Amino acid sequence: MAFKCGQKPGTGRYVCTGCGEDLYLDDDSDKLPPCAKCEKCEFKQVKTFLTYLLFYKVVNSYKPLIHVN
Ligand SMILES: [Zn+2]
Repeated sequence: MAFKCGQKPGTGRYVCTGCGEDLYLDDDSDKLPPCAKCEKCEFKQVKTFLTYLLFYKVVNSYKPLIHVN
């Protein structure tokens, strides 16, 4: 399930679907901001720490393909 910035998905941790940057909303009335790193506007909620680790690992495994020095 993905959320767009401007939505109020509730308290919890969210991970950018573009770069894996995570953010934490500490109030149910907080709106999701655009990603601080890549300004993408789509986030996935992280239900558990394990889910976070798995997702982050997948994103990082693609990074060498995207960012060429
Ligand atoms: Zn991002």
